[in-house]
Amino acid sequence: TADAATALGELVGDRAEERDLAGRIPGETVREASRRGLLCAQVAAEHGGLGLDSRANGELTAHAGSLCGSLRSLMTSQGMAAWTVQRFGTAVQRGTFLPRLTGGETAGVAFSESGAGSDLSAMRTEIRREGDTVHVTGRKVWVTGAAYASLLVVFGTYGDGAAVVVVPADAPGVRIERVPDPMGCRAAGHADVRLDGVRVPADHLLSGAGLPVALLATAALTYGRLSVAWGCAGILRACLDSTAAHTRTREQFGKPLADHQLVARHLAELAVAEQVALRCCEHASACWDENRPELGTQAVVAKYVASREATKGAATAVQVLASRGARDGHPVARAYRDAKLMEIIEGSTEISQLLLADHVRTGRG
Ligand code: FAD
Repeated sequence: TADAATALGELVGDRAEERDLAGRIPGETVREASRRGLLCAQVAAEHGGLGLDSRANGELTAHAGSLCGSLRSLMTSQGMAAWTVQRFGTAVQRGTFLPRLTGGETAGVAFSESGAGSDLSAMRTEIRREGDTVHVTGRKVWVTGAAYASLLVVFGTYGDGAAVVVVPADAPGVRIERVPDPMGCRAAGHADVRLDGVRVPADHLLSGAGLPVALLATAALTYGRLSVAWGCAGILRACLDSTAAHTRTREQFGKPLADHQLVARHLAELAVAEQVALRCCEHASACWDENRPELGTQAVVAKYVASREATKGAATAVQVLASRGARDGHPVARAYRDAKLMEIIEGSTEISQLLLADHVRTGRG
């Protein structure tokens, strides 16, 4: 993990701010991150991956989250793509697609549509098999990483159920249009994807076709929730570091900001927020690594807690740095914009609350 963290640090360097402002990471940097297995580090060595467990991958993700929210977003979607193939693909499909995701290519995961955000049962994208060919038609929105991707992992309806198909981004009928000026994670290549009568070989259809959408999507989202949660723990770490450093040196009213009690309280709250987020992430990752049945719920808890703490914590950091942090590309300003979006994705704060309340109501676990 230490080597992977060093490699990530080298790929980000001091360019996170510049990339955020430009809204782009150079394609070669993204490909290099993929080639080094950093974007989906839980993929096994037999498929070219680093074979990390969930905890170690989480720590790597938190490190990325502390450096560059956009690269961390690409890790989340690539990891989700890889996990979906791992979970639903056949041995041949795993052997075909996973080495591509650890070998320089990248993938976006496409669930959302303009009419199907929180409610994925409203998806209209149609996946239909005819002999050796699978036809895909629909329109996806806000697909993270799609602007860089050579593969798209597309969820859609399939008869009475749902299915997942791997679509090459350059297949005839695929059109990728960047989301203009996203509020945060600006260099994560969010794009809308049109799929007009796209045809792919039937072996691109992952097994499990026809299962309920909730079952297919929840498997992918569980990985995504954990990844986002760890990323938010990283955002909190960056905010804590910036705030601690600034309040030690900046003096007002004749003493360092950290010696003013109301400012010191912000430091304490940030330190606690980071710990709380980390503990929830560690617990959910332990559930993953030990294959425990409460994983799904604990991934929701981790994502819910960490994204809310990161949103509050980043706002606190901007408050404490004041004019020094009030520049668009500054780490705490990026944290403020990036963290808020983490409350929307992979099941919003409200959807997480509904899932957790449902869990309590039905007395599971
Ligand atoms: P809506 O579903 O319209 O919700 C609007 C508001 O209503 C929210 O606050 C929501 O919590 C609330 N709400 C909805 N239903 C209920 C309810 N039943 N009870 C209470 N409150 C409710 N999609 C992909 O497929 N792939 C990606 O890689 C991807 N990346 C993204 C990255 C970013 C930065 C963002 C912002 C979005 C991304 N999305 C992606 C889309 C994302 O999954 C959706 O934005 C998300 O599911 C919410 O859907 P929506 O925006 O349509 O909001």
